[in-house]
Amino acid sequence: MWLSSDAMMRVPRSHSYDCPKRHCAFAVSHHLPLIARLWLLVAIFSLACIQKKNPALQSALNSITANGLLNHIRVLSSDEYEGRAPGTKGEELTVRYLIGQFSKLGLKPGNPDGTYVQKVPLAGIRSESRAFFTAGGRKMDLKAGDYVAVTRRFTPEVKVDSSDMVFVGYGVVAPEYGWDDYKGVDLKGKTLVMLIGDPPVPDPNDPSKLDENMFKGRAMTYYGRWTYKYEMATEKGAAAAVIIHETGPAGYPFAVLLGSSGQEHFEIQRPDGNMGRVAVESWITSGKAKELFALAGQDLEQLKKAAVRNDFKPLDLRAKASFHIHNSLREVQSQNVVSKLEGSDPSKKDEYVTYTAHWDHLGRDATLKGDQIFHGAHDNASGTAGLLELAKAYTKLQLRPKRSILFLSVTAEEQGLLGAKYYAENPLYPLRSTLANINMDGLNTWGRTKDMVLIGLGNSTLDDIVMEVARQQGRTIQPDAEPEKGFYYRSDHFEFAKQGVPALDPEPGVDYIGKPEGYGLQKRREFTERDYHRVSDVIKPGWDLSGAVEDLQLLFQVGYRVAEGEQYPEWKPGSEFKAKREAMLKRQAQR
Ligand SMILES: [Zn+2]
Repeated sequence: MWLSSDAMMRVPRSHSYDCPKRHCAFAVSHHLPLIARLWLLVAIFSLACIQKKNPALQSALNSITANGLLNHIRVLSSDEYEGRAPGTKGEELTVRYLIGQFSKLGLKPGNPDGTYVQKVPLAGIRSESRAFFTAGGRKMDLKAGDYVAVTRRFTPEVKVDSSDMVFVGYGVVAPEYGWDDYKGVDLKGKTLVMLIGDPPVPDPNDPSKLDENMFKGRAMTYYGRWTYKYEMATEKGAAAAVIIHETGPAGYPFAVLLGSSGQEHFEIQRPDGNMGRVAVESWITSGKAKELFALAGQDLEQLKKAAVRNDFKPLDLRAKASFHIHNSLREVQSQNVVSKLEGSDPSKKDEYVTYTAHWDHLGRDATLKGDQIFHGAHDNASGTAGLLELAKAYTKLQLRPKRSILFLSVTAEEQGLLGAKYYAENPLYPLRSTLANINMDGLNTWGRTKDMVLIGLGNSTLDDIVMEVARQQGRTIQPDAEPEKGFYYRSDHFEFAKQGVPALDPEPGVDYIGKPEGYGLQKRREFTERDYHRVSDVIKPGWDLSGAVEDLQLLFQVGYRVAEGEQYPEWKPGSEFKAKREAMLKRQAQR
């Protein structure tokens, strides 16, 4: 799981949950006459029987075992693997192990160059910064606790001198909502001042609530994420971007940003050394922002109100920003590991379903007393083991699926989804022919559950397939209980989604069979507090991987159905990725 500036403890989610009418593929059944409902039941039941009677599928499903998982986790989380940090001996051993397993299974190298690896060039950057603003003829110094500023540019020094500051509201361009905060204003060389989160557009019928038809109401869309806002600043040719931090909409306190400041962060090394990116990415506290706006003769609260309307226009603040950042740099070579099961249908084998799990973790910290190794047994030796078990299951099929399956073990997730990002930006097979991504990050280690959680439930038609398979397993699918925190944007699958590929972010369920209510949440909370991103993330004596096996059997069948299916999975209306996917497929059709 990605910590990064988000310091993302995946916070335990509460799970009081009523009928999933809004998302449920069979929601329509609530409105059908009895006879039609009965017919639907019969249809579902017979489909389930067909599945059960499919012996070829059954032997594949049976090949996924708790012991198989545990053996892989034991190796990957061992002292010898040193916490699997990119660019270390731990990476060397991990990559060797993964290649060994894939080739033992008879899976082909996944890179068309005939190897099992995709090289991922990374750069480590440690930044030190100074900054001040001027407004109303006065200088406003920024102290260490007031702001955080970094650069993604691979250069020893970045300087922005007296750049004009422009308030751009939420900095969002969302065609599906008829929204453009920039209104064509030329922002080259300017410093963009932006609000965090999605525009909280009030419901026209009841202004005390959010409009469910705009930016998914309470849920966070990608437009609310800081990464999106800096991407827009780059697109607009801005000199710098300043996000006004607020704990609520961000989903984490400012202290989290301060904690990551001054630490080494990793970036993908691009041929241009990231010189095309906006030079300065920064955050300030809302207290400092208020001060700045007041100096500039503006009222931040009033402007925030103006910014939730789609007639908002950028406002010149008549203020200037100066930043000076020094970097220390180093290059790190890392690798994604990839293998392939070729599709059996000549007309469909050039289409792909991609499973992902990140192999990397946090390495070792020589300053620690006692254990210095971040074993990452759960995060993400378990997901990596899941990937290997799924790969094995696919090799047990008597007839390979029509489409090809890619098993992609990505690097540097803990550094900001970098391996997945690199793949999605430099795909080995075209993304327009990639039907789906299914990601695994931290398997269930506490036994069987009646449910499974799907982050971002309702995003795409993949979710309908998941719900159908779950139903056949006699299980249910739960949504993310905290959609406002934007978890969907914080794991590897997101890099696929961002490029347009429908992507799944499944998580362990919380309703444990034979356990008291609240057990699942308690276990999750315990993990977050005691073991998450700590050296104590090791295999525990009480582990029970039977629930993980069931989850993987579900994910196997979802990928299998997509690989066999007649239709491409697609984003549902209102998804911020839909337009991108449709444009991509349209270009393909025009070829
Ligand atoms: Zn993690």
